[in-house]
Amino acid sequence: MELQPIGVVHSPVADHGQMPFEGVPARVEIFPQFEKGLEGVSGSSHLVVIGWFHQAGRETLQVAQSRSGPLEKPQGVFALRAPHRPNPLGLLVSRLERVEGLNLYLEKLDFVDGTPIVDLKPYSPSWDCVFAARSPRDLRFTDGGDQRATLERMLVEAGNFHGESCVGLALGVRMMHHAIAKWHIAQKDPAVVVHMAEDGCVADALQALTGATLGNGRMKVPSGRAFRLSYADQKVLAYQPKELPAGWGVEEVLGAGIDDLFAIRSDIYAEGSGPHGGRPPKRMPPEAKRQMLLERVRQSLVDGKLPCATAHHLAQELGVSISDVGWAADESKVRITRCQLGCFK
Ligand SMILES: [Zn+2]
Repeated sequence: MELQPIGVVHSPVADHGQMPFEGVPARVEIFPQFEKGLEGVSGSSHLVVIGWFHQAGRETLQVAQSRSGPLEKPQGVFALRAPHRPNPLGLLVSRLERVEGLNLYLEKLDFVDGTPIVDLKPYSPSWDCVFAARSPRDLRFTDGGDQRATLERMLVEAGNFHGESCVGLALGVRMMHHAIAKWHIAQKDPAVVVHMAEDGCVADALQALTGATLGNGRMKVPSGRAFRLSYADQKVLAYQPKELPAGWGVEEVLGAGIDDLFAIRSDIYAEGSGPHGGRPPKRMPPEAKRQMLLERVRQSLVDGKLPCATAHHLAQELGVSISDVGWAADESKVRITRCQLGCFK
């Protein structure tokens, strides 16, 4: 097996310790013998850039510290994106700003100056975006440390979903950051239900940061101006955005006091009595169809699960609602698998 560098990074940052979390603007210079391989590259707005971390250690198999802080217990390098690993390949998706001859100008790259580049691929939202995907870090509660860095990281994550950085996005980041600190929960805790309000940019931020979708039932869409986050149908935080001073941008919103941004109401309900996240009572399908439903669900299992598409098909065929099929699946202790593309779980 043999790798050859196809280019090299030119970055203002030469020391890994000085590299900001989200990277810096950088130029990738492609070597002349690979010029033909660049044909068509400018058609992609984003590239997957694969570099070789030539300074990284290759003996490391476990790490006790990640970039966002110490880990609860050491983790294997294949469960992390740490630079130290047997084959120190680094991978980053970055926006391609322009191509000039053999030079690719990238919006953000966290590879230091001189990093050899071994491959480039187009990033495709249809193949590469799995919005419903979860990783262990989503369920980690991170407290303390540099809160400004946490806000910046959340802004990048929300911006990846929204498509740009804007004031509404920053407001959504501040809301979520406030709620996770107050409730001491992880950012994508599945018990969080989000009640959206009118500002679509804030709504996009909350959706991106919590993983809530209409399909997984964690996103509710009432009207009004206040956004509400509820946790386990017990705790509710309502955020009513205030009028911001003229000329405020993302920077000002990230740096402001939380009370300058929102009027906040906090409610706590006895277990299960909260008004927002409660599940509707299970409705039984018509008596005459129950047996048939149970039987057909049993016959339609794939690897012990009921594919989402089959569930819809069964509902149509038997003239029942999709929640009736859900009843039969629950009754048979069978899970309905989600749509395979996963972009909207
Ligand atoms: Zn926006």
